[in-house]
Amino acid sequence: MANQKGGVGKTTTAINLAASLAQAGERVLLIDMDSQANASHGVGVRVAHGEPSILEVLMGEESLEHVVRPSAVTQLDVVPSSPEMAGASVLLPDLPRREYRLRDALASFLELDASYRYVFIDSPPSLGLLTVNSLVAADQVIIPVQAEYYALEGLAQLLSTIATIKERLNPALRIAGLVLTMVDARTSLARQVEQEIRTHFPNLSFKTVVPRNVRLAEAPSHGVPVSMFDPHCAGSDAYFDLALEVVKHG
Ligand code: ATP
Ligand code: MG
Repeated sequence: MANQKGGVGKTTTAINLAASLAQAGERVLLIDMDSQANASHGVGVRVAHGEPSILEVLMGEESLEHVVRPSAVTQLDVVPSSPEMAGASVLLPDLPRREYRLRDALASFLELDASYRYVFIDSPPSLGLLTVNSLVAADQVIIPVQAEYYALEGLAQLLSTIATIKERLNPALRIAGLVLTMVDARTSLARQVEQEIRTHFPNLSFKTVVPRNVRLAEAPSHGVPVSMFDPHCAGSDAYFDLALEVVKHG
């Protein structure tokens, strides 16, 4: 998940897509690249003081296999973040292969354990080195877009960053699609934004739109994905549909 805009639904999408696929029986890994650690907390994982997180992995001080943990969801493991990750933007630039730190660590880990069918990476709201590491480690990028007036603002910059990374660092990278989040179907604004996105990006938009649904905002405080909090709510249905689309597009 990438979008340098804050609060557009990256973490909510990462958690609930990962959980949907895990609950469908796939083994899934969720990597939290954000110092806010919302994705970790949202699946019930908190790093205690002194315990290693993704920061130590990126620094080369700990291998991924020693940091990965089970989450509140069966079949879903998480590589957690912690507030200490805030230091990464200062520490990473001086390291060798600074754009490839996550990719290299993940490759070594997946060589040891090839049983993960999907890996989801939640990135922070910036286009800095942490998001670059996420995009270099990924083969597809999902772009959550909030259904609001300024939805498309910043998208051009994100798309050009993705293009540059594809050209210089990760030729295999492709855009899986834009997914519209927090859609209030009763407003004409939401319909306008959806129309605009489908017109601008006809082949790049997921059919599924995620409605504004308070259960999606409540679930993280219980440390579980929405499907375990309220399996029959509209938010849960939407992320299940989105997971089906992700599976279908491979
Ligand atoms: P950041 O850029 O800070 O990492 P983000 O892009 O990861 O933010 P989220 O944390 O997923 O965005 O969502 C922002 C806020 O909106 C959170 O409080 C979340 O619970 C809420 N939220 C996300 N999606 C929905 C939705 N479909 N309906 C209602 N609330 C939502
Ligand atoms: Mg987030």
